[in-house]
Amino acid sequence: MKKAFDMYYSESDNLITSSPSDRNDIVLMDRAIARSYAPSGRGWLDDAAFQIRTGLDARRLAGLIRRYERLNVVDRHEPSECPHGHIFDPGATECPDCHEPASNARLSGLTRYWVLKQPQEPLFDPTTARRPFNVFISYRHGETGQLAADLYYGLVSRNLNVFLDSSIIPPGVSFERIFLPVASDTSHFVFLASDSYFDSTYCKAELAHALRTARNVIPVPIGGNFHPPNDMPWLNQMNPCLIIGDGQCLSKELEDYLLPVVTQNPAPTNCDHRLNACIYLLQQMGRNELLSRFATSNWLSDIINQGTGPQHWIVAIRQEVGNNTTRLNELCSTLAP
Ligand SMILES: [Zn+2]
Repeated sequence: MKKAFDMYYSESDNLITSSPSDRNDIVLMDRAIARSYAPSGRGWLDDAAFQIRTGLDARRLAGLIRRYERLNVVDRHEPSECPHGHIFDPGATECPDCHEPASNARLSGLTRYWVLKQPQEPLFDPTTARRPFNVFISYRHGETGQLAADLYYGLVSRNLNVFLDSSIIPPGVSFERIFLPVASDTSHFVFLASDSYFDSTYCKAELAHALRTARNVIPVPIGGNFHPPNDMPWLNQMNPCLIIGDGQCLSKELEDYLLPVVTQNPAPTNCDHRLNACIYLLQQMGRNELLSRFATSNWLSDIINQGTGPQHWIVAIRQEVGNNTTRLNELCSTLAP
């Protein structure tokens, strides 16, 4: 099991091992580089970006950048400048802004670094990522990080907007306000069901909200069979993806299976487990929270007021909902994050 603050690049781990006193600066470099990686291979950063992101002075930076260059994580280049002052990739045949042939360009005198290597896990910031998302990927950091990274960059390179959740909630970020609404709203919800996936109450809550709102939920079993937890036994009736990931990286087989599924628009809906998901969610709440959520619904308030406790509420709610879609919709909306 990996720690919560691993490096984005194994090269950073090696650099720290060979010079432990540089650890803090290497951590800063590691994150600065990972942030600029683009699946097109065209992600770059320059000295100014390095300075802003790391806070290190020019001399210190130059030495650290050289170490990453030697390990082929970044590659230095000098961009071209066209006669109109546009800066562009020295490998291009013309200026992408004004189409002036590259033969009329000169060297810009600037220094940039391509980010050559994909980080081991994507650096994703849930607070700055913009809606709407096409795909939600839910996984456990330390178990399926590499697979999540391959999947994330693979989908991003196909112009899909992906929300990524490693089940580690960054400090100061509200799980209820950020993660649960996105899980409820995103058309396709892919979860990498590794050994400890269901140990996380965060993961289970996201999954329940995706099912509550009838999203296209796609279980990807990792390693062995698909083992739903005791408090979600009905997940057994879901069709997990038949291709078992090994959690290490994205196989061609899994990619070929998932891509057509998550690019379907409109997304298929999964209505079978809306009631089950609602029951799961309300089991996590106490009487007072339920009464305030159900305040606008007479039949739901009556069940909580008259019932003796969760066991009784659940039986009564299942009975009252039955095949009544209006009641089911009402229950689903009262449980929205
Ligand atoms: Zn130009």
